[in-house]
Amino acid sequence: MPDRIPDDLIALIDRFARIGATPGGGVRRLTGSAEDGAARALFADLAQARGARVAVDPVGNMFATFLTAPDATTTVLCGSHLDSQPTGGRFDGALGVLAALDGAAALFAQGIDAEHNLTVVNWTNEEGARFQPSLTGSSVFCGKYSADFALGLTDRAGVTMGDALGQIGWLGTGTPGLTPVHHLELHVEQGSVLEDSGVQIGAVTASWGVRKLTLAFTGAPSHTGPTAMHKRRDALRAAALAITRFHDRMQGETAQLHWSAARIVAEPDSPNVVAARVTVWFEIRNPDQQICTEVGDRFLRAIAADIDALGCGIEVVTDEARPGTALDPAGVRLTLEVCETLGLRATEMRTITGHDALALAAVMPSTLVFVPSVGGLSHCEDELTLPDDLRNGGAVIRETLRRLACPAEDAARARTDSG
Ligand SMILES: [Zn+2]
Repeated sequence: MPDRIPDDLIALIDRFARIGATPGGGVRRLTGSAEDGAARALFADLAQARGARVAVDPVGNMFATFLTAPDATTTVLCGSHLDSQPTGGRFDGALGVLAALDGAAALFAQGIDAEHNLTVVNWTNEEGARFQPSLTGSSVFCGKYSADFALGLTDRAGVTMGDALGQIGWLGTGTPGLTPVHHLELHVEQGSVLEDSGVQIGAVTASWGVRKLTLAFTGAPSHTGPTAMHKRRDALRAAALAITRFHDRMQGETAQLHWSAARIVAEPDSPNVVAARVTVWFEIRNPDQQICTEVGDRFLRAIAADIDALGCGIEVVTDEARPGTALDPAGVRLTLEVCETLGLRATEMRTITGHDALALAAVMPSTLVFVPSVGGLSHCEDELTLPDDLRNGGAVIRETLRRLACPAEDAARARTDSG
């Protein structure tokens, strides 16, 4: 029989939600902030108290390893992130780390006869709220970015991620010291597919593709008073026009799209100076990345003449194509089997959001599991996952971890089940 649903996961989540708590019930734990430091310290303390050895790598990724197979050189990674958006939800990321900690610690305490060890991970700067790009720690771990690149990322105040993490004391030199064989992550859905269909668990098969396009609109600085209107080259006016056109175009496309223009930086950012340079962060998402590329190209062609007519230019600052990433099919099957054992309704689904599990999928079998988000809300204080769903997710993670750590036992069970 699978183990009983863990009792203390909810208490664990509540405890972390107090770190960086916002008035509206969310959390603010930006990477490298004092709150991030406090959450990291509590995670390390709790993991060590439960018998894990904790290592921190050069970009602050934290690895808490439970030696469930002391003679083995392999481990199963399971985790997510403790950083948050500026007014983020309390479950986004934290649920994945804490369900992993709760599950791995319980299996270790039971003394399971495992072939692999279990390593709970807190990936650095998943959100990309303070330092861009997002998925920073997991991408360094996978070799997509160098540690130097990640540590050199700067926030709006010019502080580097390296300095910020150093200041709170979470730059290390360690690694898990074991070969990872699988990565498992539990996350809140952040959409409403599960809630709308009354399904309790999502087994994620792949992600949507995304095009992240950062454009700088360039004009010229001048006094907002005396400068003749026809002589102004107003970059903010150009950006406003482009943003409006962007929404109109995306609305009119036939493909199933999710899109945003969510961040804007004006320079010199003075009420008395016509903006000389305005940077806008655009995103276009579709299951097929090629569609995102085509739609984005059409948008760029459509605005070129109008921006030019305003006397402004367009500079492509970054243009990142992230194709939809496929997750491990065996992991999807395993998730569905575990849900069947636990009596939970589960479905295969795609994710529209980015996750560390997607970065990890480039280098090892990676599995992503969703629990419902009430109203599909996230990246806000109203983000909510109900206690039963949190417990269900915790139970799925614990049982999946057990089967991943004990593959021979799992195979024997499968033979018995089918025989
Ligand atoms: Zn997250």
